Amino acid sequence: MRKFSDIHLERDKNDIFRFGFIHETVGNPRFLNFFRSVLLLLVLYAILWGLFSPKNAFTTGLFWGLFWPFFMVITLPFLGNVFCMICPFGFLSRTVAKIGLKKKLPKPLKNPYIGFSLLILFYWLPLYLFPGIFRSSFVTALFFLTFFLFAVLVSYMYSNGVFCRYFCPIGRVAPAFARVGFMWLSAYNKTLCDPKCDKPDCAFACPYKLSPHKFDKNNSMESCTLCMECAGSCEGVRYSVRKWSHSLLQKIKKPNSWEVWIYIILLAVITITMRFHHGLGHSPIRNELPWVQIGKWLEQTTGIGKPFDWVGLVAFIMAVSITLLLVLGGFYISSKLMKKPFKEVFLNLGYALAPLMIIGSLSHVTHFFFTHYYHEIINGFSQAFFLGIKVEPLATNKDKWLRIFYIFPFIAAFWSGFIMWKRLGFFYVQGLKKAVVYTFSSLIILFYLGLTVFQLYVRYFSSHH
Ligand code: SF4
Ligand code: SF4
Repeated sequence: MRKFSDIHLERDKNDIFRFGFIHETVGNPRFLNFFRSVLLLLVLYAILWGLFSPKNAFTTGLFWGLFWPFFMVITLPFLGNVFCMICPFGFLSRTVAKIGLKKKLPKPLKNPYIGFSLLILFYWLPLYLFPGIFRSSFVTALFFLTFFLFAVLVSYMYSNGVFCRYFCPIGRVAPAFARVGFMWLSAYNKTLCDPKCDKPDCAFACPYKLSPHKFDKNNSMESCTLCMECAGSCEGVRYSVRKWSHSLLQKIKKPNSWEVWIYIILLAVITITMRFHHGLGHSPIRNELPWVQIGKWLEQTTGIGKPFDWVGLVAFIMAVSITLLLVLGGFYISSKLMKKPFKEVFLNLGYALAPLMIIGSLSHVTHFFFTHYYHEIINGFSQAFFLGIKVEPLATNKDKWLRIFYIFPFIAAFWSGFIMWKRLGFFYVQGLKKAVVYTFSSLIILFYLGLTVFQLYVRYFSSHH
């Protein structure tokens, strides 16, 4: 491995690899692989428990209480794509690919939307159409067993990196949202490289054929999974703390439409649908809501009822339609006002929507930690490893102090609005025109803010009358 000390260079102050302990752990693929293999064993154990002991608390506690909210939702807005860094499936896929057939992926399958569509079709849609489906340990185990076998099959067939890049439901989503956080991987621009060589060691080592030495220049880490193979191959790789969302505040050299679509679609599918279906759908005005009325009417008309949830389906369709209308309509009007091509406006301003879903989700996750996740995780592990511990929830929905977590949707809207304002600066519009364009580009942010305030108002009003 090339070493900094060989050419007497010092790491930057914001590079956390300057701390030996961090470099030897977080920047060390062998250490990470050990950690990932322990997690993989844990995953397989949880799948077996779910299949053969369907009423256990461990399977759902591990996947839906620990992995999804903690390793994913809480880390993404701050630490970036840490989930992929420790992901056992990424480790599994890279390991299997080494001994596999290494076929070239057919061109039609090189589509960044495949994994993302799988996420919507096989997770979010079933969640709305068949509520509570993933509360079952057996279904959860089947779900992850299928995912495990799918990862093995794809990785065995095709060359290294293909599974994470194109097929994993998280593979495009997590790196796109990682832009919101503080952490950034890059390289000291070939400082240690032979100047005649056009493929540095870091790029050579990357299983995903990425070029970390170009991440800074392009203001994009593309679909980096933080596997740290590059850091293990050359000391010139750095892992730095930057300003919060720094890449979203700067121009992006090659903006990706798939990143912007991920922000928009997940905003619709997760954030807005959740507000419709779970936020307002559990409030005292439930029966007045249009998606509830239409859903009930469809249930009566078709005669198809539980476990199918028509209300969830209608809330989903309405949330997606309204989000698309507000985002695309707002960007279209902005493009006309600024006399700029729609695509340019979409690809520039769309990045401002990244924080809205991922920071807003913290409200739900933190609230649920105290009311559900904490005791589900501890009791689940206790059951699986025969520890004899039983804990109670840290709070119930009646505890008023939980309201403090309502702050996150406001932070999300403020931060998205701020980034939108900054990104509008790239179009050199000024004064009143900038204010008008800003309003249209931010329609979805305003709608989200309005929904949040309305939901709080309904709760406040019902608790005082
Ligand atoms: S892309 Fe998917 S499989 Fe690969 S490391 Fe990330 S979460 Fe794991
Ligand atoms: S650039 Fe490639 S090798 Fe380096 S951490 Fe990212 S995915 Fe891994």
